[in-house]
Amino acid sequence: MAQLPLAQVPADMQWDWQELGACRDRELSLFFHPVNARGRSRRDREAAAKSVCGSCVVRAECLDYAIRSREPYGVWGGLSEDEREAIFVTLPSIDSSREPGDGLRAVRDALGDIDLLAVTA
Ligand code: SF4
Repeated sequence: MAQLPLAQVPADMQWDWQELGACRDRELSLFFHPVNARGRSRRDREAAAKSVCGSCVVRAECLDYAIRSREPYGVWGGLSEDEREAIFVTLPSIDSSREPGDGLRAVRDALGDIDLLAVTA
């Protein structure tokens, strides 16, 4: 059986920002689509999740985490799996240094100076 990719969480990761996430009381299924979900239902689900992220006060911290960790699944920091994957392929090896802030720098390198309070859908 093929091994599914896992997030590569940096050892120095802090998690206190999660307490303030706008998704804290939302259904997890809004942010993580069912296996093999495609098409309109997947797009609608992602757009709904992104709209929650768009008003989240810890979006920057969440997005930094998701990129530094190569988080493979779900909507994190307002970016979908596919959007993050497009950034991951531009990054150095997972074994290279991943300091706090490196994730946001990678996002800005790939997408420009995005407004982290704006919805990206
Ligand atoms: S940015 Fe989105 S996924 Fe991250 S904590 Fe906020 S609401 Fe949750």
